[in-house]
Amino acid sequence: MLIVNDEQRLRAGIPSLSKRCPYCRKALRAYPLILSDDAGFAVYHAACAAALAIEIQVDLYTFFCPPASYRQLFVLDVIQEAGTCQEDRCSPPT
Ligand SMILES: [Zn+2]
Repeated sequence: MLIVNDEQRLRAGIPSLSKRCPYCRKALRAYPLILSDDAGFAVYHAACAAALAIEIQVDLYTFFCPPASYRQLFVLDVIQEAGTCQEDRCSPPT
């Protein structure tokens, strides 16, 4: 819910603007504010609410559309590396 004045803020159950935004941790101080209608009834700066929404959308996009996996995997073999590196640190393993 968008809050743009004291009357709306009081009706939303927020007694003062000294409460802190849960996103940026700064005092609310000025309008416009966004009241989350989730279970916690958190109040955000409008810009913080927009930033949070974008972060959630980006997270959801990468969850549902993950980047392609690497085609080639490398396995580090500590024992083989130790044997070859004693002779010459730059030579590739045989
Ligand atoms: Zn904020």
